[in-house]
Amino acid sequence: NPIPDYLHEVLDALRDDTSGERASYIPELADADPDKFALAVTTAMGSTYTAGDAQDEFTIQSISKPFAYAAVIMDRGLSHVLEHIGVEPSGEAFNELSLEDGTNRPKNPMINAGAIAVHGLLVGEEATGAQRVDRVLELFSRLAGRQLSIDEEVFASELGTADHNLSMAHMLRKHKIIADDPHEVVSGYTRQCSILVTVADLSAMAATLANGGVQPCTGERIMDSAIAQQVMSVMAVAGMYDGAGDWLTRVGIPAKSGVAGGLVGVLPDQVGIGAFSPRLDSHGNSQRSRLAFERLSTDMGMHLFAPS
Ligand code: GLN
Repeated sequence: NPIPDYLHEVLDALRDDTSGERASYIPELADADPDKFALAVTTAMGSTYTAGDAQDEFTIQSISKPFAYAAVIMDRGLSHVLEHIGVEPSGEAFNELSLEDGTNRPKNPMINAGAIAVHGLLVGEEATGAQRVDRVLELFSRLAGRQLSIDEEVFASELGTADHNLSMAHMLRKHKIIADDPHEVVSGYTRQCSILVTVADLSAMAATLANGGVQPCTGERIMDSAIAQQVMSVMAVAGMYDGAGDWLTRVGIPAKSGVAGGLVGVLPDQVGIGAFSPRLDSHGNSQRSRLAFERLSTDMGMHLFAPS
C-alpha cells in the first residue's frame, strides 16, 4: 500500500524543521518532547494509516472544540446553541474574548470564549460539572472508537494558570451566556482539553465528520449528517483562528489545531487527518503539522476547492 510509505516520506521531509516553541503558558506542556512527530489518515471507508510517533498520546486541547460543539448541538438543538454562540470568524487569537456587538455572543465556538460557552451548555439546564465532563469523554471515545482518558497532570497544571479563561467565563455569565458557576465551567472545559488522544484517534474522529456522522470503523451513527455539516463548516470558518483565511486558501482542508501540537483536518466524503508535533508557530498552530497538511494538500490534491 503506497499510503503509509507516502506518510513516512512526508515526515522525513519535514523532520529537520525545528522552528517554533512549545506552549509555555500551560507549564506541563513546556516539558513535552519537542521532537515527536506523527501523522494518521482515516478514510471515510474506515481504513487507518499511520506514520511516526503514532502510539504517543497528547492532550487534545482546542481540537476538542469542534467535537464538543457537535455534542452541544445534539444535546440542546442548533437554534438554542446559535442563540448563545455565533458562527462568524473572529480574526483574532484563540484567547480573545470576541463577543458580538448587540447579542454579546462569543463570535464562534472555536475561540476559547465560545468553547467555554459550549461546555457550559452541554447536556442540559440542570447539568452538573461532572455530567458535562462525562458527556464529552463518552462522545469523544465513541468518535475515536476506543475508551479515552484524561491527563490529570496537564489538567491541574492548566487549571492552576487559568485566570484568563476564568475571567472570560465571568464575562459570559455576566452576559447570561452561561448559567453555572464560572469556576465549575472552566474546570470542566479544562478537563475536556486534557483528554488524551493519538493521531489515529484524531483521524478517526475527523473521519466520522467526513462520513456524515457515522464512525467509519465501528459503523455507529453518532450524529446527524446535518450536525457534521455544521461542525465542518465552522472549522473551515474559524478553526485556525487569525490564520483561518490564509489556511483555507492555501491548504483548503477544514482543520482545528491545539496548543499541545495536535492538528485535525477533514475532507467531506474522503478522509480525516491527524497530525502531532509540539512546536507551535506564531499563530499557536503546530509548525510541522501545518507543513505536513500543506504537503498533503498539494501532493494529493486535497484542497476543498481544487477542481477534480
Ligand atoms: N486549553 C487551552 C486553553 O484554553 C486550549 C487552547 C488551544 O489549544 N489553543 O487555553
